[in-house]
Amino acid sequence: MFTIEMLPANEGDAIWIEYGSNPIRRILIDCGRKTAYRAVADRLDDLRELTFELFVLTHVDADHIAGAVPLLQDQRFGPDRVGDVWFNGWRHLNGQHRDENESVRVLGAKQGEFFGAVLRERNYPWNENFSGFGVVVDEEEELPRVELADGMVLTLLGPTKDKLSEMRDRWESDLISADPEKQIEPGDWERALELLGRDRRHGPDILSAGHEGPILVEELAEVPFNADGSEPNGSSISFLAEFDGKAVLFAGDAHAPQLASSVQRLIKARGLDGRLSLDALKMAHHGSARNNSYELLELLDCRRYLLSSNGSRHHHPDPETLARVLTINEDGVEFCFNYKSDESLPWADETLKSKHKYSAIYPEGSEGLRVSL
Ligand SMILES: [Zn+2]
Repeated sequence: MFTIEMLPANEGDAIWIEYGSNPIRRILIDCGRKTAYRAVADRLDDLRELTFELFVLTHVDADHIAGAVPLLQDQRFGPDRVGDVWFNGWRHLNGQHRDENESVRVLGAKQGEFFGAVLRERNYPWNENFSGFGVVVDEEEELPRVELADGMVLTLLGPTKDKLSEMRDRWESDLISADPEKQIEPGDWERALELLGRDRRHGPDILSAGHEGPILVEELAEVPFNADGSEPNGSSISFLAEFDGKAVLFAGDAHAPQLASSVQRLIKARGLDGRLSLDALKMAHHGSARNNSYELLELLDCRRYLLSSNGSRHHHPDPETLARVLTINEDGVEFCFNYKSDESLPWADETLKSKHKYSAIYPEGSEGLRVSL
């Protein structure tokens, strides 16, 4: 068994993976906003024995971390529930080990600071798979490979050291520009979470503001690629997960050129003929047109595209992204949406589906979407 569930996380990500049988193993990637936290916490309440091999926090943007901070503090979760936590905190941005003693910074970059603070406070495993160092791809060395229980193999594709050092500069500048109004006293989690919930510092992308009128795939496919420049997104952990002959790429909110370059490296290292075969792609940055270039998509032999967003704030996924996928894949593409939204529902149009020979999958209720490979 290998299933991927995109939990309801508003415009963010919370991805619940299950694999194997007897016992079933689990991986959690990000924890969206509070809705996702509640969905996860409810399950922990129901299943007291439930554990995770791994929890990956891809990066510090609120739509990935806002539910992760309360989850770590929740008594229903805890260090005994998780084999390892992958997260690049401040020290990792500086190429250092997680354990060197440093007072917790509580100004600016606070999502990351609080996540790291709670990891330490409750003694969670932290980047154990990397001996406590950063979860990072070194261009001079092979792509890191981690094997989890029962043969799940993860190959790290990002971030690179360059992307982490760009994020370090951003983290520092956030500290300098911190608004005194937003200061938090150490240990005041309530206040921190309140601030976290309305944090708009990593504000909206400059994206097409929602889709109006009929979808014209041919026109959308011609819209030039305008690369995402957000440092937090660039610092996203992205990886290939392989189990039982199935392969899925979890792209976080990664930058397309960096991810494309790692995929190219993997293709070369494995001696593949042309493209990397995938059973599913969790599209980068909720299907943003700024993170899914032709350069990247053309490296992937994939029919199933996972799109996680309710369209709020950034109107993801962008129609340009889906048009690019349809342009390079002649037929048989499947789009899997975890919300019925103004952005996803236009793709249910029967004429459009038969013209471009794709299918569109939507959740029945409000519980997100579960995809079995
Ligand atoms: Zn995101």
